[in-house]
Amino acid sequence: MRHLIAGNWKMNGLNESLDEAARIAEGARQFVGRVDAMLCPPATLIERMRRSLGGSPLILSAQDCHAEPSGAHTGGISAEMLADAGATAVILGHSERRADHGETNDIVRAKAEGARRAGLTAIICVGETERKRDAGGALAVVSRQLEGSVPAGEPGDLVIAYEPVWAIGTGRTPSEADICAVHAHIRAELEARFGAAGRAVRILYGGSMKPANAAAILAVPEVNGGLIGGASLKADDFLAIIRAAAGA
Ligand code: PEP
Repeated sequence: MRHLIAGNWKMNGLNESLDEAARIAEGARQFVGRVDAMLCPPATLIERMRRSLGGSPLILSAQDCHAEPSGAHTGGISAEMLADAGATAVILGHSERRADHGETNDIVRAKAEGARRAGLTAIICVGETERKRDAGGALAVVSRQLEGSVPAGEPGDLVIAYEPVWAIGTGRTPSEADICAVHAHIRAELEARFGAAGRAVRILYGGSMKPANAAAILAVPEVNGGLIGGASLKADDFLAIIRAAAGA
């Protein structure tokens, strides 16, 4: 399965950041067909990136959406609006949204159904806190999040991102053996639920991935790509990770 490398810019990015995105788009060209490269800018930049990067192989994704298509939800942005702006995917259930906005599995699932309705690829994030890992509960947490957050029905182009909360933005990562164990577990759960279609779902690793550790993490079985925060803000670092995914 081809690796997907997705850069989550979080709440970073102004008009001036379009130059950095253009550098990423240009650098990613040489890996077309070998790696799928995706950028997830703040919603305010999606439309401008679609225009300025027109024709680029870079896939544009949002970072969240409202579950409803439209209506009286002040400040909300629907999956349909994101698609209209030029996004083809959306990150859902990132731990920062689960923690900062109280997003439960039910909320994440409703959003994922909204993404499906609008034709967006849902990238659903799961991952344990450090306390749960230390207590030996990592796999159980991930199972519950998968069961509650992933909508019923055919998975289609669903993507799962395994992001241990304690590894996000900390510079710490699980051992390759631990990543392997969780990804194998997620794959088994997807197959149990979706049969053969569960084998086609990409499972990304996220949490302090950077040029120095990317090649090793991306070589772990059942790691089908990466969700990258901090290291996606600089074109050189992000392109180095894309290069590692291409095995170059
Ligand atoms: C993330 O927030 O999705 C993430 C993986 O962040 P970082 O790479 O900065 O740990």
